Amino acid sequence: MNTKKVAFHTLGCKLNYAETSVIGNSFLKRGFSLTDFDSKADVYVINTCTVTENAEKECRQIIRRALRNNPNGFVIVTGCYAQLKPEEIQKIEGVDLVLGTKEKFEIFNFIDTLEKKELACIYVTPLEELNDFGAAFTPLPEDRTRAFLKIQDGCDYKCSFCTIPKARGFSRSEPEEEAIKQLNELVQQGYKEIVLTGVNVGDYGSKIGTNLYNLLKKLVKVDGDFRIRISSIEPNLLSDEIIELVATEDKLCKHFHVPLQSGSDKILRRMQRRYLSKLYAERIEKVKSLIPNAGIGVDVIVGFPGEDENDFNTTRDFILNLPVSYLHVFTYSERPGTLAAEMDNQVPKDERRRRTNTLRLISARKKYQFYLEMLGTQQVVLFEHEEKDGSIKGFTSNYVRVKTNSNLNLTNKFALVELQTIENEFVIGQVQKVYEA
Ligand code: SF4
Repeated sequence: MNTKKVAFHTLGCKLNYAETSVIGNSFLKRGFSLTDFDSKADVYVINTCTVTENAEKECRQIIRRALRNNPNGFVIVTGCYAQLKPEEIQKIEGVDLVLGTKEKFEIFNFIDTLEKKELACIYVTPLEELNDFGAAFTPLPEDRTRAFLKIQDGCDYKCSFCTIPKARGFSRSEPEEEAIKQLNELVQQGYKEIVLTGVNVGDYGSKIGTNLYNLLKKLVKVDGDFRIRISSIEPNLLSDEIIELVATEDKLCKHFHVPLQSGSDKILRRMQRRYLSKLYAERIEKVKSLIPNAGIGVDVIVGFPGEDENDFNTTRDFILNLPVSYLHVFTYSERPGTLAAEMDNQVPKDERRRRTNTLRLISARKKYQFYLEMLGTQQVVLFEHEEKDGSIKGFTSNYVRVKTNSNLNLTNKFALVELQTIENEFVIGQVQKVYEA
């Protein structure tokens, strides 16, 4: 039998990856098999991120890549960019179907044949009608260690640089019972690390009379051999009770990813963020006081309109003084339709790049320092899959990337590892004990 093949390309955040996995499974249920994006497929699905300056160009390139592998491949574009600018995507040569945020979960309602179209069809529900949740908790089959569990979608915040609320609508949450049920299923399927995802995870429950702390307390009671990682949480929503729970609960990873965006209060105000640098520093101190070994990641945007040399230096010094472990540095780029794109004092692009490089170097130093501090300690590592050279990699609970050459079968297992030396991106570890489920 000639099975039809589908290939995926995902851009953007963990939430998008979680949702691609759901779309992937809907294809598997219809008898399709998964294949690599750079091979010949019958259907190519591109799950896009929000509109950036280069979104159209990037999308065009990905579509060309797909059609090089199969000129007759049926091309579906979905995700945030498709929700926001469907007509722009429709004009790109080779696209057959454009699906909005809601429609991507009902993909087979919109496919009649896989014949290529003269002009792509568009199915996009307007933003005001986006109330569905679109549960996403099943991972793609090749990743047997980690699964994403979507607990929240949309955002009610109004950060001046962000188009996500326009593409994903208002904040909404998965009911607690559903999230617990989905976690149970993932654990039954053998997944050992569950990453809680959403657009604004810390806002979980705000409209259904609960909150993230309550949910976490219930999730850790689920039986099984697993741990939970919170993908990202806004500083103003990182409550004392969440930090205290993470400090005491073995099933919660000692790792926080907390967007900062800028260390300058002037810029934070222009960004319409809901905190100032003092609150941010205080939250990080609280984490470190209760969990000294916590891994802490930070998102920063450089070159935001109005960020002068002084503001940038303030951000740089603020980060240098924070006990954080790594940065995700984003070079500001204008997103059409946002307040920030209309602001005066846009920073020249080469200056944005220079500032990005400065912070990336600081990130590398922070990470090295964090890894150094972990040497000599014993940590529980969740190992993934063996590499061709016989080595195997995994993460500690506090997000140190560990590599070992043990000849034990460690795939998808927790093991106690002594962290010994740093080699490139990894800490080399010696396995002390394997935890068999
Ligand atoms: S918190 Fe701000 S940056 Fe994050 S999704 Fe909401 S509006 Fe966008």
